[in-house]
Amino acid sequence: MTFAVYLSLLGWLLNPSTPAPRPKLIVVITVDQLRPDYFTRWKSQLTGGLGQLATEGAFFTDGYQDHAVTETAPGHSTILSGMWPAHTGIIRNSEGVQDSLAPLLGTTGPGASPRRFRGTTLVDWLKAVDPTTRVLSVSRKDRGAILPIGRSKEQVYWYQSGLFTTSRYYADTLPTWVQAFNARRLPFKAASTSWTLLLPDSAYKEPDNEAWENGGTGVVFPHVLPADSVRAAAAVASVPAMDSLTLLFALEGFEALKLGRKGTDILAVSLSTTDAVGHAFGPDSREIHDQVLRLDHYLGWFLKRLTDRVGRDNMVVVLTADHGVTSYPERTRAKTGGAAYRVSLDTLVTAVNRDLDRLAGAATPREWLEFDTGMLFLHDNGRFAAIGVKTDSVLDALAARIVRMQGVARVIRPADLARADTASDPVARRWLHHLAPDAGVVLTVTLQPASIWDIPNVPIAMHGQPSEDDAHVPIIFWGRGVRRGSYAARANTVDIAPTLGALLGVSPLSLVDGHARTEALEPRN
Ligand SMILES: [Zn+2]
Repeated sequence: MTFAVYLSLLGWLLNPSTPAPRPKLIVVITVDQLRPDYFTRWKSQLTGGLGQLATEGAFFTDGYQDHAVTETAPGHSTILSGMWPAHTGIIRNSEGVQDSLAPLLGTTGPGASPRRFRGTTLVDWLKAVDPTTRVLSVSRKDRGAILPIGRSKEQVYWYQSGLFTTSRYYADTLPTWVQAFNARRLPFKAASTSWTLLLPDSAYKEPDNEAWENGGTGVVFPHVLPADSVRAAAAVASVPAMDSLTLLFALEGFEALKLGRKGTDILAVSLSTTDAVGHAFGPDSREIHDQVLRLDHYLGWFLKRLTDRVGRDNMVVVLTADHGVTSYPERTRAKTGGAAYRVSLDTLVTAVNRDLDRLAGAATPREWLEFDTGMLFLHDNGRFAAIGVKTDSVLDALAARIVRMQGVARVIRPADLARADTASDPVARRWLHHLAPDAGVVLTVTLQPASIWDIPNVPIAMHGQPSEDDAHVPIIFWGRGVRRGSYAARANTVDIAPTLGALLGVSPLSLVDGHARTEALEPRN
């Protein structure tokens, strides 16, 4: 304990009507595609940051991203907002943060901003009571950096073509510390380096050579990055080194901005390599095992640097994930003989669109209906009436065909969700949590648990379903004011922001779907 902390605690003890001073640093770590079973599978090998948070923190082992389209953008939007995607308005990756009016600084790539995000986050709630609060949010992905923070114009950075950047939404120029970090060109220096196993071969039970991995090429260790530096800076985004680079950048920002020294600051980091490795090699691979061990190792280093600087008594850490993942259908069939498919509605929806073109006498093809990850969108209902087509009859016919396809479990009209028993029917509940009334979704399609949506010519493991594998995520609180333990009660990622709010003594400024998990908190005063 520092002398300053001692004095402030002494003041609080002598005058108990004054609330306890708030922690100086809130660290929010999101691991992209982290399944909670990884903690139990490799428990004895997790000796770094993941292990530390799991054993010293309050671990909600039955945690969920409890919405239907379990993708990166919707998942990140729930974490500090306390709201379902139905309320954040972020219901799919493809319309997450893309914004051509917010170009990148210092590099080229897709412009990005939180323009579609609705409502407020813990950042806004905290700044309302403490205007000195500062925020740094970092990720390899634009959506991973932007969406936890909401619409607030903070220090928000992500990775593009070997550089960390932000968009015009946040700033006109990159600050000196970001420019200095980029000038070291660390990702370009990764050319010809190899990803090798952290531990001896015998520490990994998983076979290294599985036919379905990584599109059938480069399936075994070591995984060597390209010799060309520009290609290496792109390829590094898919190997463990990207997470260590992201954490190093976050730490340099934390030092440059002097976070955690005065009021309460927020450091949000979203780590993307687990997602890249999980997609390419699957959740049962030797590669994902090594990625999780390396992530554990990097996080141990990162947390030590933060605690050395700020002090354990001044910090709160939250760790969660934006979604889980489903294994390769090919692996499921090979290992269990169970039904598991890659499902695509592209041919069917395209055929319906061309039929409607013919009815309308359209000279150029139109996208009357659009399908994206379980959601069928109807564009411009008025045009259906103009050509004498009843929307309901088109949708009924389409639903009848879809529900007969291999791998499809259910087709539900959004209007029918309101009648569902949300306690006993998690699929219906997750769709209700997902769809905003104005989202334009006219049908929802849910696959059987081991099946996935197909991406043409990209034979990867996938997430995106309202299934146990995709929705189950770890939720861990650690640090000052947290009551350590393993909590078996179901918790949701929308509970994270209200819980942090209760811990900090700040109230939400807008509607919140989650609730404070006070069972995991010490009494405040
Ligand atoms: Zn993913």
